Amino acid sequence: MSTLDKLTQIDEVSVNGKSSRLPGFYKLDISERLEKLDDFFKLSTKEKWMLKKETLTAELADVMIENAVGVFGLPIGLAVNFKLNNKDYIIPMVVEESSVVAAASNAARLIRENGALTSESTDPIMISQIQIVDSPDPEAGKKRILEKKEDLLRLANKQDPVLVDLGGGAQDLDVRLLETESGTMIIVHLYVDTRDAMGANVVNTMAETLGPIIAEIADGDVICQIVSNYADKRMVKVKFVLDNVDCLARAGYSGEEAADRIIKAYHFADADPHRAATHNKGVMNGIDGVLIATGNDWRAVEAGVHAYAARDGRYRSVSKYYRDEKGKFVGELEIPMAVGIVGGVTNLHPGVKILLKVMNVETSMELAQVVATAGLIQNFAAIWTLATEGIQKGHMTLHARNVAIFAGAFGELAIKVANQMAHEGRVRYDRAKQILKPLLIKHREEEEQRKKREKK
Ligand code: NAD
Repeated sequence: MSTLDKLTQIDEVSVNGKSSRLPGFYKLDISERLEKLDDFFKLSTKEKWMLKKETLTAELADVMIENAVGVFGLPIGLAVNFKLNNKDYIIPMVVEESSVVAAASNAARLIRENGALTSESTDPIMISQIQIVDSPDPEAGKKRILEKKEDLLRLANKQDPVLVDLGGGAQDLDVRLLETESGTMIIVHLYVDTRDAMGANVVNTMAETLGPIIAEIADGDVICQIVSNYADKRMVKVKFVLDNVDCLARAGYSGEEAADRIIKAYHFADADPHRAATHNKGVMNGIDGVLIATGNDWRAVEAGVHAYAARDGRYRSVSKYYRDEKGKFVGELEIPMAVGIVGGVTNLHPGVKILLKVMNVETSMELAQVVATAGLIQNFAAIWTLATEGIQKGHMTLHARNVAIFAGAFGELAIKVANQMAHEGRVRYDRAKQILKPLLIKHREEEEQRKKREKK
């Protein structure tokens, strides 16, 4: 049975009774968007105030890190129109780059109207590594460690009874011998189901408990006892299939031509590391913002995704685009995704607590699938644009406002300057200054006249 056929048999799940398809959401102002969000999630007045003004206090920042001097702001945007496995999602993104949220929302709309998005994931298995050096007989040491496997797993699980009660915990371990410049090392991998936690702290604790004991068994020394961020036992796969390619028509290219150009652009990324780095950066554009919004460790996910991209010895694209056996256009992304909805700062950061409510996921596996979806859709939006009208037109229209503000424009003036630059196709600092100069003079004159009128 095809993915689409399967999906038509699954009941639709909306966001608390409503569709995430929100036409014209971008035209609202911030207060109106917050009211819309309130329709979905019943936010308190304080929560809405916090999203608008302050999601983290300096006092809390002082608890979170050392030598804190304050709190740094970034925009919180909502990517709308997402429907994954027939469930609607509004995806919060904390990101400074213009065009990311708009591109994700537009591509999500295109896919929900012309096809379907599905995803699946493995169990949330993290790997912890224990490095044993200077064993006089590594082969014999390996054998002795494996003989003690059940005892070692039991000891690991004693470190986290809460996790074990929740159905997680250490499940297995394996041992391999690694040839290095410092001689043969014994490397133990401990496999731990961390349930709804990202799990780095959990598995580090287990590794540090087992490390000295394993060293004794192998008659060696233990050095590193730490999580591997190459979480290739914690994988997520997202896929979309379009009913037909007509919807891809753009910038004078037919749907067929656009599909062909997208696939060729992907083949370039898969064959060339210079292109693959930028292609995968497009994937991470969608992912990192969601990770920050949900209090997840984006460095950990970045490290895992890039390690996976280089898994066969050459750095390549993590997403794929192709036509299936029926000629349907398919986009796919498969990556490691170590994320949590408990632990870390998820229970500490007030903004994260609100945005996790908006994310509306029940497990870390569901969050992993939504995060990867944002990555695939963002990458698709970028490659579709790149293969048709080129990246600068849309991007620079949005970026024009930043350039205008950088040149000294504000309020309505910034919008005027940005529109003028976008219209001319010249989004540049020097041009912004030129356009701004007469507008600023006029603005000051009007202000003076207004003040004079008020005095009278
Ligand atoms: P944690 O230790 O704060 O929370 C996990 C604990 O929560 C578990 O041990 C369990 O006892 C409890 N728990 C309660 N309900 C649970 C549920 N439903 N599922 C699972 N556990 C549940 O956090 P963590 O996830 O172990 O660690 C994440 C943090 O570790 C991140 O902030 C990350 O930045 C940091 N970190 C990362 C690295 C790395 O990636 N290399 C290294 C060290 C620390």
